[in-house]
Amino acid sequence: MKFDPASNIQDLLQFGEFGDVNPSITDSATYTFMEARAMTDTFTGEQEGCFLYSRHWNPSNKFLADALAAMDGTPAAWVTASGMAAITCAILQCVNSGDHIISSMTTYGGTYAFLKNYVPKFNIEVSFLDTTDLEAVKKAIRPNTKLIYTETMNNPLLQISDIPELAKVCKAHNLKLMVDNTFTPMIVAPYKLGADVVVYSMTKFINGKNDCVAGAICASEEFINSLIDVNTGTAMILGPVLDPLRSSAILKNLHTLHIRMKQHSYNAAYLAKKFKSIGLKCNYPGEADHRDHELFKRMMNAEFGFGGMIAIDMETVDRASKLMELMQEKGVGYLAVSLGYFKTLFSNSGKSTSSEIPEDVQKEMGMSEGLIRFSVGLDNDIDRTFQLIHQCLKELKYV
Ligand SMILES: *Cc1c(COP(=O)(O)O)cnc(C)c1O
Repeated sequence: MKFDPASNIQDLLQFGEFGDVNPSITDSATYTFMEARAMTDTFTGEQEGCFLYSRHWNPSNKFLADALAAMDGTPAAWVTASGMAAITCAILQCVNSGDHIISSMTTYGGTYAFLKNYVPKFNIEVSFLDTTDLEAVKKAIRPNTKLIYTETMNNPLLQISDIPELAKVCKAHNLKLMVDNTFTPMIVAPYKLGADVVVYSMTKFINGKNDCVAGAICASEEFINSLIDVNTGTAMILGPVLDPLRSSAILKNLHTLHIRMKQHSYNAAYLAKKFKSIGLKCNYPGEADHRDHELFKRMMNAEFGFGGMIAIDMETVDRASKLMELMQEKGVGYLAVSLGYFKTLFSNSGKSTSSEIPEDVQKEMGMSEGLIRFSVGLDNDIDRTFQLIHQCLKELKYV
């Protein structure tokens, strides 16, 4: 049977306290126990099913986590106050002092900064390489390697990781494979393809409203339980839990994610075709000449399309800046970082979301300084949007 993330969410029956169609919001930090013994047993982990304290579990967060687990086909999930909280907690849970991590060279800027500047404080080594080069990955494995970290679709080059092949390498060497699936929820289900841990910034497509930051970790029961272990769990101890008021809002938005992903993908594919037809250098994984088009097709749930992200190359920072300013003025969307919003957002990656990555590394990654990343919105008439962008390009004499 086809894996259908949207139906998996739809099939969940999550009622509120009074039969409410939306689960009740639990607005409490702590919970009473009828018997003192039950409290002790909950602390030691001997008793399950009781709520103890909201840094550990909150019923509203549990409803959202269960829906995310259903979407990704994982046995369990946990929700965090930001995507970075999900990434940092999940990584720290996998490694100890003296261990080694292999990471994609092209990750989200915050992730890169964490792995480059932060984890070395704990005597953890990180090798950055092109994780789409499987031979390079295999060569980099050491006796103390514990984790391979990558993104399904990387930012901002939109290259695709071969998750099934990376999973094979990990299985063979007893490593964990962690995948950031922020750009491609529903489109790709990394756990079903062999990843051990899937992390999300829910700030982006999953919530889709740009009204909060939030994150999630989807994995096995064992991994999620280890994260929230009272004595040793990174998430429990560092404490970046999501607020239940927010999680109840995100859960409602999750129920429209499948429709939004289809529209984001449709609009992005349309713009990519049009951009190419007027001679722009445009990068979109849905285009047949994209380096990883065939690989992506093998991994994706086709009905959700190739995603809402496009990159175009304007060659210089100056040309990119002029175009972005004019597009904002003409109402194409906003000159802003972030993605997965109902309006189109655009930014120059090298000077914003990837600015943590040194310029020489950006060059090595193949990132042009004039690269504009678009997160294409839910525009009802995408041709009208294209005409606006075309006007801007003509006005600047770029086409
Ligand atoms: C935004 C983003 C993050 C970080 O998430 P926050 O919610 O901002 O903490 C991590 N990975 C990717 C791919 C992102 O786009």
